Order: sequence, then structure tokens, then C-alpha cells
Amino acid sequence: MRRILIIGAGQAGLQLALTLLGHGGYDVTVMTAQTPEEILNGRITSTQCMFFPALQIERDAGLNHWEEPAPWIEGQRVTLAGPGGQRLLETYGIWDAPAQSVDQRIKMSGWLERVEKAGGRVVLHPVVTSDLEALSRMYDLTLIAAGKGALVELFDRDPSRSPYDAPQRNLAAIYVHGVRPYPPHPTPHVRINAVPGVGETYLMPALTRSGVCDAVLVEAVPGGPFDVFGDRRISPDEHLRRLQALYAQWAPWEHELYVEARPTDEFATLYGGYAPVVRRPVGTVGDRHVLGMGDVVVLNDPGCGQGANNAAHCASIYHKAIVEHGDRPFTPEWMHRTFERYWEYSQWATALTNTMIGPLPEHVQQILGVASMDDETARRFARGYAVPPSLADWFFDPEKAGAYLATRMPQSAG
Ligand SMILES: Cc1cc2nc3c(=O)[nH]c(=O)nc-3n(C[C@H](O)[C@H](O)[C@H](O)COP(=O)(O)OP(=O)(O)OC[C@H]3O[C@@H](n4cnc5c(N)ncnc54)[C@H](O)[C@@H]3O)c2cc1C
Repeated sequence: MRRILIIGAGQAGLQLALTLLGHGGYDVTVMTAQTPEEILNGRITSTQCMFFPALQIERDAGLNHWEEPAPWIEGQRVTLAGPGGQRLLETYGIWDAPAQSVDQRIKMSGWLERVEKAGGRVVLHPVVTSDLEALSRMYDLTLIAAGKGALVELFDRDPSRSPYDAPQRNLAAIYVHGVRPYPPHPTPHVRINAVPGVGETYLMPALTRSGVCDAVLVEAVPGGPFDVFGDRRISPDEHLRRLQALYAQWAPWEHELYVEARPTDEFATLYGGYAPVVRRPVGTVGDRHVLGMGDVVVLNDPGCGQGANNAAHCASIYHKAIVEHGDRPFTPEWMHRTFERYWEYSQWATALTNTMIGPLPEHVQQILGVASMDDETARRFARGYAVPPSLADWFFDPEKAGAYLATRMPQSAG
């Protein structure tokens, strides 16, 4: 039996642990800092909108325990708003299949409990870097899936893949009950409001401890008018009041839908801000090597909702690579190769996010403009969030984007 150590109990670590246990032939240990009860009763960690390809990975592995009660999310609406609270344009793209968001407090506590039931071992211990050399000697492979925690110090930033060195947004999330559906289109969908130079808000239907809710994320350009949640000690009620005030000024069509909103629970808020970064995937501890996964190696701004999806793809790709590798040693070369397989996917999620949180290139503004008049372009743009590699051959390059747009709006091209 191959001995595998996974440090961290999030989407990346737990999905990999459970899929290896499901495969059989692996002795899996998960080390993490919190019990399932602490996770379940703790603070929200994400808004975790999982697109259909990531959901399919979970279904194929039998990990879709909350599929029934979680609401379907049909597509995404993007409303571009002007500085005076006016709607400049709106696009609505339906995905090939629905997305879903399950509060990670429910999902990770449930999955962590399942690790032991599936024959794995859970060790409650906040690992520090100095533990790792001795620990990794006891295993054939050690994976670091510890999110944004201190263990990232083992992995150097890769400047060639990391265009930003400071946070591009300060984020503030809250889960609420009682938000009304969008009147012209009550089908559950992600509602994105973007004010150029100021920030974005995202609303997505989700499943939390008290049932179906909406998870609302504000992405504020640091120091700008959306950046009003930074004093961190505000209550969920005060958070909601500030959110409502933002909507009243910047997106009044949303404000009226929040009149009866209330926070889902006392830990239903989250604040932060971090620089997006891609790290080199192999860490060295003494004469041993460890492999990073999930947010440890590819940390995107949450703006385009890619991180948990990336983590799911990462765990799936690493799982396949581990199984294919059979009994051979997990060398640093194998680790680099395995990460590059994952980067083939995640480079597009990263490029999408980094594009959308920067000043919007002119050709992307044109794409949004055409998408507001043409359902097929809106669908293609929305699909890029769910299947980022689908953007590779048209979205990032002004000429290729122009060539595509000319097929949709021939009269407006050139
Ligand atoms: C506000 C917000 C909204 C988001 N919305 C979305 C979205 O809509 N869609 C999307 O795809 N992504 C979204 N994301 C990103 C997504 O949540 C993360 O990218 C994803 O959860 C990362 O998974 P992970 O397993 O790599 O890390 P994590 O989920 O961070 O898990 C890390 C685990 O490691 C444990 N740990 C940390 N340090 C140690 C240690 N030293 N020893 C032991 N254990 C340790 C932690 O307790 C935790 O269990 C959002 C993020 C934020 C902050």
C-alpha cells in the first residue's frame, strides 16, 4: 500500500483523500487544524460556486452528497453600471449545465467525517514547516493542500506566472436569507454587477446550514467606494446595512431586492484581500520534497469564482497522476510534471481572473457589448467561467476576439 499524507482539509485535500480511498490501494492520512464540528460551526470560508465540470468530477467520485437540497444555478448575468447608478449594459449567459454552491462549512465537515469512514486516518494537528521533514519520511508522497496558510512559505512565487504582487480587490462576503429573485428573470442565477474602477458584487444562490440562501461577495478596488468593510469587527447586520447602502447608490435595481434580507447566522461574514499568485509546486524539506495543490500553488482572486473549481480539477488531475504512477517513486520530476498537467487547465482560469480584475481591455469591453445584444456571445462568455480552456482560442487576443465578434455582429465589425 502506498502511504499518502495530505495536509489540509479543503476542496483540494479532501477530494484527493476521498478519491484515493475510493480507488483502493492507498493508505491515506489527512492532517488538519479543525474538527468537523469546528468547521461546521465556524465562519464561512467562500462563496464556492462550482461549475458543471467540477460538479461532474464530484458526481463521478460519489462525493455529491448535497446535490438534492442545493439550488441549481442556471447561468450568469453581468450588469455593467455607470457611476450614477445607471445600467450601461447587461448580458445573460446560460451554462451548458447548472452550477451549485454548497457552504464549505457543510461540505468540508461532511467530507472530513467521511475520510475515516472510508478507511483513512485524520490527525488533528496544525502542521508547521519544521514538522514536515520528519513527517514526510513516513510517507511515499506528501501533499500540501493548506490553502492560504503559513505553509505556503515552502513554495516560491513564480514571477513569470504572477502578474500582480498586491491585492487587486478587498473582498467582503455575507450569506443572507430573504433576497428577492430578479423580477424579469426569477430563475436562480449568479448576478454580477460591475462598476469599472470601483469593483464588483456577486450574488449566488447557495445551500447553507439553515437551508437555501444567497451568498453575496463584494470585490472592492482597494481604497475605493466599495471598500467599506475593512474595519473587520462589524456585525453581520452592520455588514448587510453597508451592502444595502452600496446597492442604493450604485445598483438601485438590486437594492430593492434586499429589503427583507437578513444574515443567515452570526458567522456568515468574511473579509480579506490577497495578491493573486502562482507558486512553484515543489517544496524542499531537508532532503525530502513535497507537492503543493489547490490555493497553495494557484491562488486566484475570488472575482471570477475559479478557486474551488481549480481545486477540484487539481485534485482530479493529481489523483489520476498518482494512480497512473503505480509503484514508482514520487520524484521531484514527477511532481513538476504533475503540476504542469494541472497548469494546462488552471492557466486559463488564472488568465480569465487576471484579465477581469485588471483594467478591462478594449476588446473585452467589446465582447461584453456584443454579448448584451447576442445570446450566443453571452453564452460563450459565460461558458468561459465554467470551462476556462474554452476561452483560449478567442477571448484573450484582440484579433481573435474581433474575428469571432464579426461572425456574430457582421454589420458592426470593423
Ligand atoms: C470570499 C471568497 C469567495 C470565493 N468564492 C468562490 C467561488 O464562488 N467559486 C470558487 O471556485 N472559488 C471561490 N473562492 C475560492 C475558493 O474558496 C478557494 O480557492 C478554495 O476553497 C481553495 O481550496 P483549497 O482546498 O486549496 O484550500 P482551503 O479551502 O483554504 O483549505 C485549506 C485547508 O488547510 C487547512 N490548513 C491550513 N493550514 C494548515 C496547517 N498548517 N496545518 C494543517 N491544516 C492546515 C485549513 O484548515 C483548511 O482545512 C472564494 C474565496 C473567497 C475567500
